[in-house]
Amino acid sequence: MVLKVERPLLKILVCDDDPADRKLVRTYLREVADREIVMLEAGQKAEIEEALGKGRIDLVLMDNEMPEKSGMEWLAEIVEKRMAPVVMLTGSGSEEVAVQALQEGAVGYLPKGSLSKEKLVEAIDAALEKWRLMQQSRANQDELERLANFDSLTGLHNRRAILHRLDEHIKQVRRYEGELSLLMLDIDYFKKVNDQCGHLIGDEVLENVAVLMQQNVRNTDSVGRYGGEEFIIVLSETDLSSALIVAERLRKAIETAEMRGSEGNTFGITVSQGVSSYKLGEDAVSLISRADDALYRAKQNGRNRVETST
Ligand code: GH3
Ligand code: MG
Ligand code: MG
Ligand code: MG
Repeated sequence: MVLKVERPLLKILVCDDDPADRKLVRTYLREVADREIVMLEAGQKAEIEEALGKGRIDLVLMDNEMPEKSGMEWLAEIVEKRMAPVVMLTGSGSEEVAVQALQEGAVGYLPKGSLSKEKLVEAIDAALEKWRLMQQSRANQDELERLANFDSLTGLHNRRAILHRLDEHIKQVRRYEGELSLLMLDIDYFKKVNDQCGHLIGDEVLENVAVLMQQNVRNTDSVGRYGGEEFIIVLSETDLSSALIVAERLRKAIETAEMRGSEGNTFGITVSQGVSSYKLGEDAVSLISRADDALYRAKQNGRNRVETST
């Protein structure tokens, strides 16, 4: 039995203002027998825009010399928006254009003067393979970045990332003389949760608290896991009295939330919080240390409460 491996349909957009050049490419592509190719043609700016906006394109063959908007400009736009791989069709003898195209992010180039079916197919295959590798490496990079910046249990910013966010927020406040507050939160008697319900339930509590925190702050605020069961929330454009309201709301939300034990039972937890607001001239270390002192007082004064640093 012969196994026929179906190659997916290939959608190629040919952008060229010269109908004769488009026809030549079309003729060659029709001769390709081992896979199904759909060729879309665009000669003018509006046609290219329409084709690019319509749906998935697997490859763009772009004439370098185009009226209205140059091939190089199209290339820059398509690369920036990560729409599809681009192979530049260059005039004969124009190595400079080829070099520039590759620098601008084209995955290949084809001199028009010596075009043949073989060269076209070769360029298409090489371009698609290069694009595949680029996508793969981009995905790897995204994954690395995610691992470096986010806490794997809660999905919140990790310690490193939340400290970085805080520095960014402080820079903003210095520049625009705005307000900024910091909330430090620690779960009360968390050791007991682990001891009585087990570590896995403890982990679930941490996840639940993370969700509750995110639900109770704005998109412009940053929530991070600072340590084991200690969290930091950076509240942008928020003064001390508003931060206190957020902290109080959060305290109540956590206090009333039901946590689920391993035997289907439910239990409650509470948190203590310390709040500090940015004072002109201070740095992240000072802001955190003041919130930490306030948190310490919240613990001393009976837990399940919020204390502020003045
Ligand atoms: P307090 O009210 O004074 O904060 O009491 P506490 O029991 O919460 O005190 P402490 O901060 O000393 O204890 C924190 C505990 O959190 C100890 C540690 O085993 C636990 N912990 C830290 N990280 C994790 C984690 O990722 N998962 C679980 N399940 N437990 C963790
Ligand atoms: Mg042209
Ligand atoms: Mg604790
Ligand atoms: Mg702690």
